[in-house]
Amino acid sequence: MELNKTRCVLDAQHLPKTWYEIRADLPAPAPGLLHPGTLKPLGVEELSQVFSPSLAQQELATEREVEIPEPVRQLYALWRPTPLVRARRLEAALDTPARMYFKAESLSPTGSHKTNSGLAQAFYAKQDGIKRITTETGGGQWGTSLAYGGAQFGVEVDIFMVRVSYRQKPYRRGQMEMYGARCVPSPSETTEAGRAILLQNPHHPGSLGCAVSEALEVAAKDNKARYCLGSVLNHVILHQSIMGQEALVQMEMMDDYPDIVVGCAGGGSNFSGIAFPFLGKALREKKATRFVAVEPVACPSLTRGAYAYDFGDVAGMTPLLKMHTLGSTFTPPSFHAGGLRYHGMAPLLSHVYALGLVEAVAVPQIPCLEAGLLFARTEGIVPAPESCHAIRTAMDEALICKQEGKAKTILFNLSGHGHFDMQVYMDFLEGKLQDEALDEIHLKEAMGKLPTGG
Ligand SMILES: *Cc1c(COP(=O)(O)O)cnc(C)c1O
Repeated sequence: MELNKTRCVLDAQHLPKTWYEIRADLPAPAPGLLHPGTLKPLGVEELSQVFSPSLAQQELATEREVEIPEPVRQLYALWRPTPLVRARRLEAALDTPARMYFKAESLSPTGSHKTNSGLAQAFYAKQDGIKRITTETGGGQWGTSLAYGGAQFGVEVDIFMVRVSYRQKPYRRGQMEMYGARCVPSPSETTEAGRAILLQNPHHPGSLGCAVSEALEVAAKDNKARYCLGSVLNHVILHQSIMGQEALVQMEMMDDYPDIVVGCAGGGSNFSGIAFPFLGKALREKKATRFVAVEPVACPSLTRGAYAYDFGDVAGMTPLLKMHTLGSTFTPPSFHAGGLRYHGMAPLLSHVYALGLVEAVAVPQIPCLEAGLLFARTEGIVPAPESCHAIRTAMDEALICKQEGKAKTILFNLSGHGHFDMQVYMDFLEGKLQDEALDEIHLKEAMGKLPTGG
């Protein structure tokens, strides 16, 4: 075994100086955000009332390269470039001729890819003179990342955490509080949106859509505050492109190139972050690369959702986004990959999916956890349950290679570690977990309530 072809670690001098914007390379422009009242496209000024002005500007800009601010790069250099690892032991266990590589985003200070955008968003808030930022979090990874950013740049952080996750993952809340952030379970009594939801259902498990409404409401009522989102939007996907850019260089140093790029998809930022730099290259150089986004069967926005204008939150406070959506009132069953429980998919990812440039699959929870278990036993890292979706599909592709006797190269994103998810794995090992079927009636109902304009 050639040791130098097992792990590609680049030093900080290889840290990209710019983020990559896929919109510069797409054959058709992506639909923009619309004002829900007038149905007119929103400009920087209107978006700046919700987001930090710098981020509002990034949301609409389409230049191919955006300079990474030096203070953000300095922080990235603490753990980036992340290693690209060849999963040789996983390959051996699967007895596959495929070469499997993963990008180890689990090594960030907060344990997931979300830190790439959390630091950037806190930096821009500070630069724009914003005193306080609010956000939602599902599994807690985004909340932790923004809390860390707030601590670095001296910005107050208020986080609404989906209630089921708040209960399942108390140590994530602990970590957010260590960084100095405030964390409230959502739906909460602290906002009008939260109270309205609790009035309908006092035992509401929460959803990202609810938590977004609460975080938006708090930001809207304080003119020194702005709202931050951990996925879905163009500027988040921009920040996450650093992963794919690094991986492009690393694959080359491994004398290899992916035939298939795989990532799990909640709001779409980690999949897009690893895939879009490769997709851009595929478009510019006419390369035949496959891109596979993996979502849970329990929250299948790409594979079963409508492609329509919808709200990003349950209370209908966001702009209208054209995306693959299950309906903003959809509450997914409380399955364990908290970071994949969002009703919609990033408009940019929805757009490239509609253009036929990427594929999507939906996988059930149990086979994902089985994949995570095999990954832990072979590669040693406990993956986040979200990341298990990517591992599952990468493994399935490797098994197809075995059947067909083809030695393809598969790259997948290990979006985070699962150190705060041990209860899930313990329940799984004790056979206590079952795959909950999707409530088809509820799904139909939520999709029937899509706002007009789709
Ligand atoms: C949030 C999260 C995801 C899913 O979110 P995307 O926006 O689709 O990236 C995946 N993996 C981990 C570890 C996460 O924290």
